[in-house]
Amino acid sequence: MTRLPGLDDLEVEGKKVLVRADLNVPLEDGEVADDFRLRAALDTISSLRRRGARVIVASHLGRPDGPDPELSLAPVAARLSELGGFPVRLAGDVAGIEAKKTVAGMEPGDVVLLENTRFESGETKNDPELAESLARLADAYVLDAFGSAHRAHASTVGVAELLPAAASPLVQQEVEALGRLLADVGQPYVVALGGAKVSSKLGVIEALLPRVDAMLIGGAMAFTLLAADGYDVGSSKVEDSMNSAARSVLRGEHGGKLFLPSDAVVADRFAADARHKVVSTRDMPDGWMGLDIGPETAEAFAGVIGNAETIFWNGPMGVFEWEPFRAGTARVAEAVVASDGLTVVGGGDTAAALKLLGLDDQVTHLSTGGGAGLEFLEGKALPGIEVLTRRKS
Ligand code: ADP
Ligand code: MG
Repeated sequence: MTRLPGLDDLEVEGKKVLVRADLNVPLEDGEVADDFRLRAALDTISSLRRRGARVIVASHLGRPDGPDPELSLAPVAARLSELGGFPVRLAGDVAGIEAKKTVAGMEPGDVVLLENTRFESGETKNDPELAESLARLADAYVLDAFGSAHRAHASTVGVAELLPAAASPLVQQEVEALGRLLADVGQPYVVALGGAKVSSKLGVIEALLPRVDAMLIGGAMAFTLLAADGYDVGSSKVEDSMNSAARSVLRGEHGGKLFLPSDAVVADRFAADARHKVVSTRDMPDGWMGLDIGPETAEAFAGVIGNAETIFWNGPMGVFEWEPFRAGTARVAEAVVASDGLTVVGGGDTAAALKLLGLDDQVTHLSTGGGAGLEFLEGKALPGIEVLTRRKS
């Protein structure tokens, strides 16, 4: 890939700079419930303000099909202003009359937030007219939303084709850190994968398995793999549609590098207060479901991670949200942060687990882009990144 242009490659002083940020935060009772993403976006916004830019911020929030007052960015504008210590004006629409009016009144250093990009049906279709309207608001474009870079939308690709464009430091860090995992890395190279579904991670399993020395599998996806390998996994969550794909990975050339759990914490129902016990995965009782890797597996995984020079971890080992099923994720997290090697952790829920454990600042890189990060590691081109490397005429 050609070099990614950064903020220093853009002329921003006095200019109107459109920042595609990721302000897709959880809301509760009309308030921002977790402002982690807003804090992250403030780096780029503040840096552009310091350089004398007029900063126009765009983001999606949730998945509305057109305007939806429940998903207005109003609470986000309020919290962003509070955290940043400067006013953030919310435009009344995405790129219409209201946005134009609000932007026309901006002075250098001002910050305007456009309304939820998904209020425009053209956003997810990468509609050229919407891209044009967005481009007319600004002189330059900055991508800060790595987590949206795998989607070719009007605010991530269409508008970036029409303006001088650059990646924010956050995006540059993501590309650099994840890029290291695809280059020559220190060995042993160990990948730990968990989480809900094999289907969302099969691509990354297939892409990384040939490169790694060991791949540790936990989470619900371990039971799909165990089932495909002929184990009886009781009532565990199994993706039947993944059976043959899982089997070919297990039986494939690199299948021997896959480590599946030897024991599991099983529960008699899917609930925080379910009855639970540790069993061997060779002997899972009928009617019980695996909700965490067991202690023997957790120790074995921690040992493999402890010997690694390079570690990529994506996906919790169990239902860490519930305390009785957190130990496997906690043990893996401890082993990862104890490593002196390169440690990269990705996935929204994995990041949440690390934060819950108070370990989120102890890895080399905590990726903010879930799906985008996985596609990057699969070796796929991310349209929102590709467009930044293309020269504009
Ligand atoms: P990430 O966002 O880090 O990529 P995923 O979205 O793939 O992770 O999966 C996270 C979810 O998987 C968590 O909410 C967790 O509760 C769930 N999970 C993990 N292990 C199991 C399991 N054994 N059974 C059911 N759900 C599980
Ligand atoms: Mg998730």
